[in-house]
Amino acid sequence: MDKQQEFALRTVEERDVRFIRLWFADVLGTLKSVAIAPAELESAFDEGIGFDGSAIEGMTRVSEDDMIVKPDPSTFLLLPTQGNSQGTARMFCDILTPEGQPSLADPRHVLKNTLAKAKEKGFTFYVHPEIEFYLFEQQDDWSRPPVPIDEGGYFDHVPRSSAMDFRRASVNMLEQMGISVEYSHHEGGPGQNEIDLRYADALTTADNIMTFRTVLKEISLERGVYASFMPKPLADQPGSGMHTHLSLFEGDGNAFYEAGQEFNMSLIARQFAAGILHHAAEICAVTNQYVNSYKRLWGGNEAPSYICWGHNNRSALLRIPQYKPGKGNSARMEFRALDPVANPYLAYSVLLAAGLDGIEKQLTLEEPTSDDVWELTDAERQAMGIRPLPSSLDDALKVMEKSDFVAEVLGEHVFEYFLRNKHREWEEYRRQVTPYELQQYLPRL
Ligand code: GLU
Ligand code: MG
Ligand code: MG
Repeated sequence: MDKQQEFALRTVEERDVRFIRLWFADVLGTLKSVAIAPAELESAFDEGIGFDGSAIEGMTRVSEDDMIVKPDPSTFLLLPTQGNSQGTARMFCDILTPEGQPSLADPRHVLKNTLAKAKEKGFTFYVHPEIEFYLFEQQDDWSRPPVPIDEGGYFDHVPRSSAMDFRRASVNMLEQMGISVEYSHHEGGPGQNEIDLRYADALTTADNIMTFRTVLKEISLERGVYASFMPKPLADQPGSGMHTHLSLFEGDGNAFYEAGQEFNMSLIARQFAAGILHHAAEICAVTNQYVNSYKRLWGGNEAPSYICWGHNNRSALLRIPQYKPGKGNSARMEFRALDPVANPYLAYSVLLAAGLDGIEKQLTLEEPTSDDVWELTDAERQAMGIRPLPSSLDDALKVMEKSDFVAEVLGEHVFEYFLRNKHREWEEYRRQVTPYELQQYLPRL
């Protein structure tokens, strides 16, 4: 029994924890949970808990047998209790085959693998996400457009609004759980908000995003509103993104920073950025995995549509602020395509792997773009070598399925399952006759 396991067992006893939730993610990034009683915890650490793998998205083909979840004691935390509900703790789990091997369908394992490859090269990968979401009035009929809870805009201070209360309650709850929040504010759309988590290593952040999405949904329902991470819920308002700031550390030093170089950017930073731009189209189905994700990417309102980078250019896919002398450790790049419903384990895997590939292949970073790339003509963009991101899920899947790179990062099992699942989503969507078509065509055709 290691120290972390002992700590978890002792805390459960001392704090009278009654339920221990074992959490894991399926291939699409949906949170799965099984609660065990305190008496089961020791054997969960030793042997894990069996579950029916065929009932979980992405695991079907692996085995008819029970799969095993084994809690990772380093992720143990107490979930803040509300009212007089009983003490609850949660831990993220590794998914194992009946033989005790890591499951190839476990997204957390995919990220661990990619992080291990970075470690071999001496790098640690840190990220911090800016998570945007809408607060809507609760509704039963999901076919109706949602109604935002306020009319506020970017950074608006809406006094005594439920959005402000909601953010305060959410930030408090996250902090109590040890998930540090850096900023929170009203975003550009009515009822739209943003909460930014403090940077942490990518595995911790991915776990934190899973926790964040669940906690926010719960808090919203308790308060009679509905928090939604849907990328583009309202056609005429900004979508919700999850811009993520990426940095690589070598020991205690930030590997992106090098004083005296152009913009104080190291060669590693340039190659990492070049790798991300090079693979941006192939990984797009992973960073933006739903039909609706592409309504955001192509819906204007500051979501990126073109593959380029810039310093302070909000139309660029990758924004790299000029690194300031003396602030080397905050050197980072902001990837702006990601949305808050991505599977964070897979998304951070493909982003890290793309950057590492840029370093390995010593890719050259093109000049930054300072133009508003949305305002340029196609011909101008082409002359500048600026390619578009995929225009739809279908388009993104067509690029992804040809990519040996993505297949290798995700592993064949996740790669194939993901493509199959997403092709099905696209085919179902393609058959729909939308309200738009009825309104446009019915009166005149
Ligand atoms: N909501 C915008 C998006 O979809 C981003 C706005 C911002 O710059 O924070 O990416
Ligand atoms: Mg924002
Ligand atoms: Mg941002």
